[in-house]
Amino acid sequence: MTSLDQRFSRIRADLDAASGPHPVRLLAVSKTQPAAAVRALAALGQRAFGENYVQEALAKQRELGDLGLDWHLIGPLQSNKCPEAARQFDWVQSIDREKLIPLLAKYRPADRAALNLLVQVNIDDEASKSGCTPAQVEALAAAIATQPRLRLRGLMAIPRPTADPAQRRDAFRRMRELFERTRELHPQVDTLSMGMSDDFAIAIEEGANLVRIGSALFGPRNTPA
Ligand SMILES: *Cc1c(COP(=O)(O)O)cnc(C)c1O
Repeated sequence: MTSLDQRFSRIRADLDAASGPHPVRLLAVSKTQPAAAVRALAALGQRAFGENYVQEALAKQRELGDLGLDWHLIGPLQSNKCPEAARQFDWVQSIDREKLIPLLAKYRPADRAALNLLVQVNIDDEASKSGCTPAQVEALAAAIATQPRLRLRGLMAIPRPTADPAQRRDAFRRMRELFERTRELHPQVDTLSMGMSDDFAIAIEEGANLVRIGSALFGPRNTPA
């Protein structure tokens, strides 16, 4: 049985080995994991945690408020959850429609730093997936950039799950191109969030600088999420 600290050390070593001049950042995806598991990983030095559901995140944040962690919302965001998302998260990675943008700006508390946002792209054009089309990225990025309470940081994607690494690599490559184009228009853009437990090595080779890792870190999830 591998322990949390062994899994964490191994992933940290993989990320350090894969990092070029710029470090690859690790987002620990803690959905379905208890607050105690987050606390244990934080004790090993991990600061950034990703959650899919606003309510689940709020419960953990209440228990862990003493730790001053960075919280990323990585699941689909409904507009009625925008007030809580704007108050409780440091990053929202799942911006895929214009409507969310003024709502998050309106509810971001004045005494907190601007909320960091990533535009989520449905890079494989899957019917069941959230995310905007590649063609919509430019308009969403421009809408975020006009809001002083929000900070456009980059793009996020979840490519189609496939056993074929070449297909996944191709999706990561297309994301990298979109990322470079977005950065030409918005030089503050610095984050390309792609790669999960089973494909983060390929994602990094293709330019990811933030990987979102759940099961390879915490072990298998016991409930589907
Ligand atoms: C669950 C999830 C992850 C982590 O998935 P693992 O395969 O457990 O690493 C990453 N990103 C998103 C958006 C997720 O929902």
